[in-house]
Amino acid sequence: MAFMTPDIYKGKYAIIDRADGGTDFIPAGYVEDVAKDGDIIDYAEGYLGRLSASGYMDRTDWAPIDDATDDDDALRRFCDGEDICPHCYEQCWDDETSECEGRTV
Ligand SMILES: [Zn+2]
Repeated sequence: MAFMTPDIYKGKYAIIDRADGGTDFIPAGYVEDVAKDGDIIDYAEGYLGRLSASGYMDRTDWAPIDDATDDDDALRRFCDGEDICPHCYEQCWDDETSECEGRTV
């Protein structure tokens, strides 16, 4: 199993335009934890994805997964964007010993 694995969130999320620049995407329930004075907050509905390492604090920022039609599609689109295999979450196509079925996709 890969060190970093995808988290997929489905539902209402906040688009936070930061007062100091940049945009963050946060599941709606966590907005109060991260919003600061001067941020402009908008809401949307859909999928977010990030990579995280279970048991560690290592994780990427949430990013929207556009045009996903269902959970499987969201995962596949997210992995495409990260350039990782949606089966094993590694770049198994570079690993000749891998028996992952995703290698042939
Ligand atoms: Zn694979």
